[in-house]
Amino acid sequence: MTAAASAAGELRELYRELILDHARSPRHYGELEGATHTAEGINPLCGDKLKVYLRVDEAGRIDGAAFEGSGCAISIASASLLTDIIHGLSTRQAKERSATVVSSLAGEAGQPRDQDLGKLAALQGVKEFPARVKCATLAWRALDAAIDHGKTATTE
Ligand code: ZN
Repeated sequence: MTAAASAAGELRELYRELILDHARSPRHYGELEGATHTAEGINPLCGDKLKVYLRVDEAGRIDGAAFEGSGCAISIASASLLTDIIHGLSTRQAKERSATVVSSLAGEAGQPRDQDLGKLAALQGVKEFPARVKCATLAWRALDAAIDHGKTATTE
């Protein structure tokens, strides 16, 4: 094995650890007090069902995010990462971030630059498993629906 291939393997291992960590102990899990925006996301293919809560202040900034629901490790980890990442963003920035995540996972945006995605780079591993892409993007679709005051986002 070359050094580069070995480093890539270690990185993948690190990402898997991050995903498993978030799946086992999701951040910001549960109903959010004072939520101003909420929406459900449903992925019938896998059986993932999540509800995303946002608290948006008067300046349009997200000062709280949480989620609850049930689903596979990928969907839960993605929702957990989402609630970490969007905290403090404006709703517009959150939607931009969401569009980046969804398009990069769907392979529409070419190879994303990891520094743009930060911790979300960990989710890029699911691209090897197309059926899991919907699991990874579910929370982000629910986030969009919540910001747009929609009720339910579905991957189908
Ligand atoms: Zn799933």
